[in-house]
Amino acid sequence: MKSKSTFALILTAAGSSVRMGLGLKKEFLPMQDGTVLSTAIKSFLKTNGLTHIIITYPDGQLEDMKKALFSSSETEQLLSQCGIPLLFEKGGATRQESVFNALNALAAGCAQKPELVLIHDAARPWVTETVIQNVLECAGEYGAAVPSTPATDTLAFTDESKEIITGYADRPHTFCLQTPQGFRFNELLEAHRKAAADKNTSCTDDTTIWAAYCGPVHLCEGNARNKKITFKEDIQTEAAMQIRTGLGYDLHKLVEGRKLMLGGVAIPFEKGEDGHSDGDVLLHAITDALLGAAGIADIGELFPPSDNTWKDADSGKLLQAAWQKVLADGWKLENLDCVVALEKPKFLPYRTQVRESIAALLGCDTDKVFVKAKTSEGLGEIGRGEAAAVWATCLISRPFRNNQE
Ligand code: MG
Repeated sequence: MKSKSTFALILTAAGSSVRMGLGLKKEFLPMQDGTVLSTAIKSFLKTNGLTHIIITYPDGQLEDMKKALFSSSETEQLLSQCGIPLLFEKGGATRQESVFNALNALAAGCAQKPELVLIHDAARPWVTETVIQNVLECAGEYGAAVPSTPATDTLAFTDESKEIITGYADRPHTFCLQTPQGFRFNELLEAHRKAAADKNTSCTDDTTIWAAYCGPVHLCEGNARNKKITFKEDIQTEAAMQIRTGLGYDLHKLVEGRKLMLGGVAIPFEKGEDGHSDGDVLLHAITDALLGAAGIADIGELFPPSDNTWKDADSGKLLQAAWQKVLADGWKLENLDCVVALEKPKFLPYRTQVRESIAALLGCDTDKVFVKAKTSEGLGEIGRGEAAAVWATCLISRPFRNNQE
């Protein structure tokens, strides 16, 4: 059952992010699409019943806040489609003060007050529509709701030194609280007014205000992925790297009077690959895998057989020229894995030398390159020793660039 309640969203982003150690507000950090802030708001914009949005910001950072919000074209489009009023409210000295400012601005700014208000940390970009629905339903029924997950680590209390354990939390009854926290709008506003009148500034979040002035807060189901970004490591692994795979294939005829070249190594044999260049079937497949992963070109486009420059060319030079183009786009090799289909000769005695040769051409560690050979059990042109074929796959990575793709 989907909630039919109307709700306002308060996105809190007025903190200073001192724990990040980055010199940049965590809400402004780049993610796959835009920033942490532009990502955090998306699931709310897709939820029915939203009537108002208010974002709290630190003094002096309104322009940066708007830039971060509109850094994603999807967010910009969702905002213009839904046509919901968007307000920015300067934060106070504490979270409690910032939320109180936002509630007052909402009360003053809307003719028809929403039934519920959801308060969400803008530094939780991975909130899902399901979690939002859980909160709306639970707050609609009980007045106050917070998404939570059961504690998985053992939680301990310490003495003043913070070095000696004095007790443990009872784990079956211990939960980690997330946001959005949801409340009946009018009652939460009233609770904040009372707390302000009482000069009660000890409330770390809105559930403690609700508990002090209104009554019990109900738990609903959160999501372990709905993490708050606190340290830069929280975002590095999730959003900072872009990865791509590539696949290359090549086949060459084996004829007498040519060298058998595999991975830049000449392997003693009575036949070798026919071809315009030196015919190194393994290096050709690798070149195509890398170029394909980076989305640049294929080997035939870069080094056309019709161009006499490449006649009898060293395929190692072709690979290096292609790899330079991939490197120039910021990519780094994670690994390369290849299968050589070859009836004769036995490949295993040359494997180490071939892996080292490829790694040297690419300027990477040998353990990132693997090559294995298979026979075709005497079947087909490969089985009859008339051809050699290679399949190569690779994984490449680079840091995400903002506003790219
Ligand atoms: Mg070829």
